[in-house]
Amino acid sequence: MDKERLKKLAERPEFIPGIYNYCDRWCERCPFTARCLNYAMGQEDVPAPQGRAPGQAPLWDQMKETFDATLELLQDLADKAGIDLDTMLAPDEAHVHTRRDAEVHDHRLAHASRMYAARVDGWFTQARRLFAQHRRVHAAQAELGLPDEDPESSALQDALDVVQWYRNQIHVKLMRALRGVLDEPPDLPAGFPRDADGSAKVALIGMDRSIAAWCAVWLRFPDQEDEILPLLVHLERMRRETERLFPRARAFVRPGFDEAGG
Ligand code: SF4
Repeated sequence: MDKERLKKLAERPEFIPGIYNYCDRWCERCPFTARCLNYAMGQEDVPAPQGRAPGQAPLWDQMKETFDATLELLQDLADKAGIDLDTMLAPDEAHVHTRRDAEVHDHRLAHASRMYAARVDGWFTQARRLFAQHRRVHAAQAELGLPDEDPESSALQDALDVVQWYRNQIHVKLMRALRGVLDEPPDLPAGFPRDADGSAKVALIGMDRSIAAWCAVWLRFPDQEDEILPLLVHLERMRRETERLFPRARAFVRPGFDEAGG
């Protein structure tokens, strides 16, 4: 994709500006794919393998074209805004960035969300036996021509998918929210929407959905109480702490998702 094509794509009126800044990146389940520039660019860059015509440029060559076009576009924007892309960060500026990175990395919410992701991985590892047993029962039933005794099987899969999707996403969005607070201009007018609140809201939604999903898994595997309950407690503590640190996050209006008619 060349620069002109990229510009044309970005100007299409159906796209909701900035919608991809406050989403969970789960495009497969997103109702806004047709209104998202990020998704459209992804579709242009990454055709399904079976969709690549013989003789068409390899995937990475196509992505390189978009990379080049993006750089050209960035240069145009920087020229207009009077930003010199050849100037390195001044040492004191670089120092501020490093200090902020460390502060965010060491924040208790960053620790808690990293730990949550690790605990989820641990649960999935120990639950392999459970899933194998579950699959065996279904296979045996199918072989015997018996009706499926577990109509909630797809609901269970959905719940597991939700837990898996958000396990790292929560951490990523919390880090972005924490960093957003540090990078905020000191003169931000009162009541102005804060980017940090938007990121915190996405993290909170991920936590809400994960809590609901864990409950569904627990109902399906009640003997997993000792493993699932601590995960729920962990999530709920993180949720409360996030709401305490970002009291206006829930009220943040995400482009598209929270707008009437979006
Ligand atoms: S807004 Fe939807 S389609 Fe766009 S990047 Fe986010 S999840 Fe994907």
